[in-house]
Amino acid sequence: MIEVRGLTKFYGEHAAIRDLTFSIERGQVVGFLGLNGAGKTTALRVLGCVLLPTSGQVTIDGFDVVREPHEIRKRIGFLPDTPPLYDEMTVGGYLAFVARLRGVPAADARKRVEEVEAVTSLAEVDGQVIASLSHGFRQRVGVAQAMVHNPALLILDEPTGGLDPVQIVEMRELIRKLKGAHTVLVSSHILSEISQVCDRLLVIQAGEIVAQGSEAELAGRVGSGASIELEVKGPGVRAAEVVRAVPGVKAVSVVREQGGVASLKVEAATDLRPAIARGLIAAELDLLRLDRGADRLESIFLKLTHGKEAAS
Ligand code: ATP
Repeated sequence: MIEVRGLTKFYGEHAAIRDLTFSIERGQVVGFLGLNGAGKTTALRVLGCVLLPTSGQVTIDGFDVVREPHEIRKRIGFLPDTPPLYDEMTVGGYLAFVARLRGVPAADARKRVEEVEAVTSLAEVDGQVIASLSHGFRQRVGVAQAMVHNPALLILDEPTGGLDPVQIVEMRELIRKLKGAHTVLVSSHILSEISQVCDRLLVIQAGEIVAQGSEAELAGRVGSGASIELEVKGPGVRAAEVVRAVPGVKAVSVVREQGGVASLKVEAATDLRPAIARGLIAAELDLLRLDRGADRLESIFLKLTHGKEAAS
């Protein structure tokens, strides 16, 4: 779907992106991950035919961004970092307007608006004026306007930016729903916000791709161990003893003990959750929760971008 070869963009003397090369297959959800100023928006704007590249080649669905942007615009939907909304319009009115702009025939526009409102959970605010919407709803209207002409490729620049934790989960669910029907390229500076929905991540730092792959592949690349958190019913000391005996476990600590429930943190060479679960069950300890540690993802990201570990 997307072929990028040697893409470079200078702003004056400053190279915002340098020699980016990657390809994205149809139907994939790919995350563009990088710290502020890494070059994500610049790269996405070139792909979205909003900005001309300085050099390199970009084709989308076989069309070239420099020579055939009109063909590409029919096939893509773009959510910029600030959604292009008209505050005085109603949600339904605005989406119908965008649909017409993007070439949806007048007779089909209302039906198409209802379809995207269903996918983006906007039906309840169809008649509401955009100015009165919360930030989360505005972001959803931004996604809806990007997909109203049913494009093959959706480019979403920081769709989770400024959202609260509930809205982040909802946005993630929305991106999941888009998968398959659309190819999706989504950017974020927070790995944990997008890693769950992405088939592949492209990590960009100071304008260059420093790593790419699935979350597991990236973890393997930095040689990061697995941090695991668990809760068991019963004494923490006993649980720690059992977990410590599992081959590959490097360190175990009881972080809390309350109401007969012990919370433990485990450092291991690899993701040992199955072996730990088996060990605890064999020792007749009731396992209440077993997750990979939340700090792990950001630690991988920081190692990839800075070559150092995150403080945990
Ligand atoms: P953020 O997450 O903060 O949006 P980003 O990864 O999207 O960051 P870009 O906005 O692409 O990064 O910026 C990459 C670099 O290019 C930065 O150093 C930025 O200051 C610079 N830059 C971006 N837009 C312009 C511009 N219009 N003129 C000059 N420099 C720019």
